Amino acid sequence: MNAVVAPDSLASPLPAEKNLQLRRLLEGLAPHQLYWIAASSAALAARGQAALEAKDAAPTERATVLYGSQTGNARRVAERLAKRIEATGLVVRLVRADAYQPKEWAQERYLAIVISTQGEGEPPDDARGLLDFIAGRRAPRLPSLRYGVLALGDSSYPQFCAIGRQLDARLAELGATRLQPLAEADVDVDAVAAPWLDATLERVREVLKAPAVRPPLLQAVPTSAVPEPVEHDRDRPFTAPVLANQRIVSRHSEREVLHLELSLEGSGLSYQPGDALGVWPRNSTPLVNQWLETLRWDGEQPVTHGGRTLTLARWLADERELTRLSRGFVQAHADVGGDAELARLLQDDPAALAILLDTHQPIDLLRRYPARWEPAALIAALRPLTPRLYSIASSPAAVGEEVHLTVSKVDYEAFGERHGGAASSFLADSAEDARVPVFIEPNERFRLPADDSRDVIMIGAGTGVAPFRAFVQERRETGARGRNWLFFGNRHFGDDFLYQVEWLEALRQGVLHRLDLAFSRDGADKVYVQHRLRERGEELYAWLKDGAHLYVCGDAKHMAKDVHTALLDVAVTHGGLSTDDATAWLADLLQQGRYARDVY
Ligand code: NAP
Repeated sequence: MNAVVAPDSLASPLPAEKNLQLRRLLEGLAPHQLYWIAASSAALAARGQAALEAKDAAPTERATVLYGSQTGNARRVAERLAKRIEATGLVVRLVRADAYQPKEWAQERYLAIVISTQGEGEPPDDARGLLDFIAGRRAPRLPSLRYGVLALGDSSYPQFCAIGRQLDARLAELGATRLQPLAEADVDVDAVAAPWLDATLERVREVLKAPAVRPPLLQAVPTSAVPEPVEHDRDRPFTAPVLANQRIVSRHSEREVLHLELSLEGSGLSYQPGDALGVWPRNSTPLVNQWLETLRWDGEQPVTHGGRTLTLARWLADERELTRLSRGFVQAHADVGGDAELARLLQDDPAALAILLDTHQPIDLLRRYPARWEPAALIAALRPLTPRLYSIASSPAAVGEEVHLTVSKVDYEAFGERHGGAASSFLADSAEDARVPVFIEPNERFRLPADDSRDVIMIGAGTGVAPFRAFVQERRETGARGRNWLFFGNRHFGDDFLYQVEWLEALRQGVLHRLDLAFSRDGADKVYVQHRLRERGEELYAWLKDGAHLYVCGDAKHMAKDVHTALLDVAVTHGGLSTDDATAWLADLLQQGRYARDVY
């Protein structure tokens, strides 16, 4: 029998604290679990070594794949591209935008960029610094750079792919050579990303010409030694049983907010506080019936699209985006129906078009501007249904193989009919024992500090409080030494104080050290979280000066911007900084990862 060498009997290269963490982690694990950890660590180490070598390779011999990503889509495409380049034996480096150094631009041979645009034309947080630099006066001339940009966006928004477009144009302006036309991908990313990946691979091959002799990096470890890691991902979701689904606002609340608990048991999925859960929704039966009635179609008729034949009802329920309107669908609908008003809007009136996209669901368009669609043509014109991301509201250290969500049900009346959201309606209607297709979407930029003695300041409005429940659970379970301060805002104290009992208990236990509340609709004047930030400015600034990490979660359009302005005011008023210095200070906190936002 082989002797098993306990880690303790080897001279450990780890610092004492990590040794302790490792021992805790390994305690009680079964042999097959220990072997899995050993094999995975070996693979990681080999990849790290290979990556280091790639980094050291002369820039002229390698391609770089650079990404800026908010919700993980751009990262995923960039990773795919890097793997494919690597598999051809060429040397490639995959870099997140906030790790890219200004001096590197001028050294690249081929730079492939994948970058998203958020809501109203905002960049992903990890790319802000890079974009400021390249747009600014200090950006270098780039005559030897060859590049290609894949822009990701959502055509429900007027500023579709704006960031990718700007970057693509700016690089050309700096003298770089565009070897591929800008590609713009909508929420069904793959339709554009797949051909762009093929084309990029060709360009990289041409530019780097002679393939390097090294074997593909991923073969650095014999594959037989590494068990297949994640079984479930975005394309192979795990159907998680619903363990609990409870309303957590009073019956008088104007909103329906639910707390859901799902089981991940047996899925092999794991997550960390700060990560999101991807949910593949299914459009509700009443909504599908509204479509069928409006179009006077039989849901049982078979429809073939992209080589697949399904009943029309299934296409509509499982495969097509029915709750978000896109410019592309408005265009297709105008072409089929020949409506002059719609055509005018599309051509000459971007402001009115933006309002239409914001206020109408596709069904409203069908009703308001009737058109004679053929079923197959309609299915082709509608965008594929895409998953929705929810910030996870639990820590595995506290809940084991479960994952908890805080869901606000979209439910409003417009044009005389009730309207819902795809995923929130689907989750709200998921009774206990129903199953929900899910996957984990890691969010590396929204992590508790590695040094647990750091203080943490959390700012959340509405369901934006979800990840902070995960943070506080984690800090409790790990016995973190730093203090925790929560700012929470919602409509009414009596109705909408989400997780009230848990916060009060955490205060009592000394796990939560400060709690500041802002209920916007209880008094004559609106009170928001940013009002509380200003009121507590002196102490807030002192915490930040002492190294606290700051987190914001919730609505990106208004709340996150107003909170940012309040933080600037706090630095000016209590830090004595000029406006420019305060701006630079916050930008620096963002860059360092000490100011993290999970907003959309
Ligand atoms: P909500 O009702 O839209 O808003 C929550 C509270 O924020 C209300 O008291 C609201 O006040 C207040 N508020 C409105 N404008 C504000 C502003 N400019 N600054 C500060 N506070 C403001 O909450 P919800 O329905 O639960 O939705 C929360 C939002 O967060 C949604 O947009 C959701 O998509 C987003 N969210 C994002 C993430 C993420 O990015 N990971 C996670 C969870 C939620 P009044 O309504 O009284 O004006």
